[in-house]
Amino acid sequence: MEIKGLKSWGESYKRPLLIAGPCSAETEEQLYDTAKAIKQLGINIIRAGVWKPRTRPNSFEGMGLQALKWIRDIKSELGVSFATEVASPLHVQEALYHGVDVLWIGARSTVNPFTVQDIADSLKGVDKPVFVKNPVNPDLSLWIGAIERIQNAGIKKIGAIHRGFSSYQKTRFRNQPNWRIPLDLKKTFPDIPLICDPSHIAGQRSIILEISQRAADLDFDGLIIETHRDPDNAWSDAKQQVTPERLGELLNEIKFRKPTSRNKEYIIHLEEMRDQIDHLDYELFEVLSARMKIVDQIGHFKKNNNVVIFQKNRWKEIIDTRTEWAKKLDLNSDFTEDLFKLIHENAIRRQAEIMNQDKKKKRNG
Ligand code: PEP
Ligand code: MN
Repeated sequence: MEIKGLKSWGESYKRPLLIAGPCSAETEEQLYDTAKAIKQLGINIIRAGVWKPRTRPNSFEGMGLQALKWIRDIKSELGVSFATEVASPLHVQEALYHGVDVLWIGARSTVNPFTVQDIADSLKGVDKPVFVKNPVNPDLSLWIGAIERIQNAGIKKIGAIHRGFSSYQKTRFRNQPNWRIPLDLKKTFPDIPLICDPSHIAGQRSIILEISQRAADLDFDGLIIETHRDPDNAWSDAKQQVTPERLGELLNEIKFRKPTSRNKEYIIHLEEMRDQIDHLDYELFEVLSARMKIVDQIGHFKKNNNVVIFQKNRWKEIIDTRTEWAKKLDLNSDFTEDLFKLIHENAIRRQAEIMNQDKKKKRNG
């Protein structure tokens, strides 16, 4: 069966690839109304959680088989496709039996290779798209490994979903985006569509636009957005869900730009600017190398005078002055601080080597 909205997977799937729907299927009416309103926006893949992995017991854990029956009926009535989370071979079997079109593996399953392997084994011979969410912890290899397990099961249409990473620190995100990780995944699997789940990154609806725009700017292939006809009264993830109306507005507000341009003038001008960047980067390295040579001289000087490497007053002065200079030069102060931490760490490592050279020689001699 053709999956609407995912007609040609791989090289030419439709971009942006959009999925929307409630966190959980709660009642038949809730699912029907929400799916119908989403379809009117031109989105043909409806997400709906059937089994919900909840952090604490005694929360709503999904409607299970009952929800699958609603999905089967609404599918044929509205002519839409449905996507749901599967966390065990039994889930896979039931979802497929009831005609679910797209499956995804949730963040709490991706962390566990046994679970992923069990799901992969149950998917052998299945010709449906399977999305793999990132694991809850910021571990790129686990995410890659889960995708490989699904690939090894023979699944051809694989997608990845970035839903952020948990952290003990309270920030404005429910899950930290750590954008570097999905971008590194894209390097490993350039042909696998990578979509962003701003809802689970945000945890609150007010920052969904900002996160979605960032994903679009980073060349993500699409979005999966939790949408509910009455978000405030949702049985799970109430704060982060949006109404179908708001979803429509969001999709108008997000600018999806093209991945690149074949325009000759664009290509020539970009080349010129990249050339300038290449020269500046080279100069940056020349300056860094000159700086490290002086660091080495200071290392010898401290050693000859029997003085410790780390000087906390100097370190404080460096951070204070450099962030001040950076501000004047229109550079972000967090960035400057991170950069100088790296430079300082390297300087300390070099001086430690200098200080301990003789000891090593003595030990080896
Ligand atoms: C969900 O999509 O509703 C869900 C449970 O997400 P995650 O696996 O990202 O926590
Ligand atoms: Mn949810």
